Amino acid sequence: MRLVLLGLPGVGKGTQASLIARESNTPHYSTGDIFREILKSSSLLSRKVAKYVNEGELVPDDIVFEMVKKFIAGDEVNANGWVLDGFPRNKRQAEMLDDLLEEESHRLNFAIHLTVSRNILVNRLYGRRVCSNCGAIYNLSMNPTQKEGICDKCGGMLERRKDDSKETILKRISIFESEFLPLRKYYQDQGILIEVNGESRVQDVFNQIKERLEIGQERRN
Ligand code: AMP
Repeated sequence: MRLVLLGLPGVGKGTQASLIARESNTPHYSTGDIFREILKSSSLLSRKVAKYVNEGELVPDDIVFEMVKKFIAGDEVNANGWVLDGFPRNKRQAEMLDDLLEEESHRLNFAIHLTVSRNILVNRLYGRRVCSNCGAIYNLSMNPTQKEGICDKCGGMLERRKDDSKETILKRISIFESEFLPLRKYYQDQGILIEVNGESRVQDVFNQIKERLEIGQERRN
């Protein structure tokens, strides 16, 4: 299946995308993770995107799309589909993705929107910690590590993402909100929007997504 995950920063897109990808044995591609990797290098691209990513602003559509296009172009490798997380962020990106898929005689199966209230979200993002080694995601209150500051999976040091400061969090939320309604309508009009409450426990949210995907597929068959 070809899926995109939509939702406010911190709603749990990354966590759910990797669960869906593992279950369906498809790759998970996160544009945010790729940008954070790029920032570790001293390339021209890194210099181009650093300002946007560190300040919580959207990287220009054309730059993001080039990256996504390269990933999708490896589609023979991804014959069973993929899960995109963090892309599209606006209607223009969604249209670019559809045009590309159409060229390859494919289509997007579903857009999954994880919903969450603003207050819960700010607390989640503020308490979010990421392993600097393997990228595992934790939360100080909801999903802490056994040893403070140390990743349970690989023993790496936990760190706070640069764009998880309070000021940048509020900016990212307001950018998301201004771009999101047209994007939501775009997928709703295509009949492929699935909305799931992202406030419950990780496994419950995942079960709901699976259930809704199954219902959605049955309806389409
Ligand atoms: P995320 O981890 O998805 O919250 O993304 C982190 C940052 O990467 C965002 O605040 C943007 O600066 C950039 N980014 C990720 N995906 C996109 C996208 N589809 N369009 C524009 N910028 C993006």
